[in-house]
Amino acid sequence: MKTQLLYEDDLEQAAEHLRGGGLVGIPTETVYGLGADGLNPLAVSRIFQAKGRPQDNPLILHIPDASWLERYCQDIPETARRLAEKFWPGPLTMILTCKKRTPEELETLKNGPICSFTHFGPRVIPDVVTAGLDTVGMRCPAHPLTRAIIQQAGVPIAAPSGNTSGKPSPTTAQHMLADMDGKIEAIVDGGPCAVGVESTIVDLTGTPPRLLRPGGVTLEQLQEVLGEVEVDPAVTRRMGEGERPRAPGMKYRHYAPKAPVVVVAGEPEASAAYIQAHVSHTPWDGVICFDEYAARFPGRPLERLGPAADKEAQARRVFDALRAMDRTPVKRIWAQCPDPAGIGLAVVNRLNKAAGFHVIEV
Ligand code: AMP
Ligand code: MG
Repeated sequence: MKTQLLYEDDLEQAAEHLRGGGLVGIPTETVYGLGADGLNPLAVSRIFQAKGRPQDNPLILHIPDASWLERYCQDIPETARRLAEKFWPGPLTMILTCKKRTPEELETLKNGPICSFTHFGPRVIPDVVTAGLDTVGMRCPAHPLTRAIIQQAGVPIAAPSGNTSGKPSPTTAQHMLADMDGKIEAIVDGGPCAVGVESTIVDLTGTPPRLLRPGGVTLEQLQEVLGEVEVDPAVTRRMGEGERPRAPGMKYRHYAPKAPVVVVAGEPEASAAYIQAHVSHTPWDGVICFDEYAARFPGRPLERLGPAADKEAQARRVFDALRAMDRTPVKRIWAQCPDPAGIGLAVVNRLNKAAGFHVIEV
């Protein structure tokens, strides 16, 4: 299969692929997603094949506006409406109770392909989207092209990040093409992603609400609306044997370039000095550092993360920096990392996961 690159003027074609059961790379403000018709179990199962994604890792359902929540969720708490009001469209995913599906509906889904194009079959979320959980992740993305595609497709779009499972998430159409060429029908090029890390995931099915993944909407912003918010342990440390994080995806090795990563946390001056003192004299050590310190590491593969004080820039850069290291022969990667306030928590989380939580505090 040849993967088509589509642009602004080709959105009807992207929507047609989706309605016909195809897979389309969609630009969102967070990262590029790998979209399929979220009501078509055959189309959704192709996402898992294309990514090499474990079946027990559920997908997020993307909808055009908050009014669609009622179609697929039940017992929607007041907090969900307040969060949607404040942050949608935008980089926030809410975990809600999935609407009860009758045994007949689920059976019909199992027994044959539904074609949403002709509206044949029940209009319910198949198990393959939720990995059999009784909850579902819902998000309303902000990117204008993807909003238009969802509107034109007329169905909710199930989409995880558009990378091969385990690799850094794609923040440009070229990243996504590198992973998905030949495996999916099309990728819509909507330019580089404005946020650069995946959506914040908050679980609203228990009390207090729980942050499962930090992202573009910060913990502090959530607390302003919700009051107390618990931070899931999988955000800040490696899960032990037998521990089950609430977001199944958080247990897998993720975002990892080929070479092992060592994260050095602390004041920027101190972390730069630590890396300088420990980096090998061979070019086999790569460095990911804040712009101000780049000149200290001449003659080796180096990626700039952005200015030390600009965490938004770091969020936009982090996945590209990790991916760029795979195009070099490095055998080890040292990475400076910001403090965890604001969107820093998301940058720290992605770097720590890329490093398998190999973190040195200085
Ligand atoms: P990705 O789009 O690649 O970032 O993957 C979606 C993320 O959302 C994964 O980490 C999933 O584990 C998480 N997720 C999706 N649905 C649920 C759910 N119902 N409960 C908890 N986490 C979920
Ligand atoms: Mg992902």
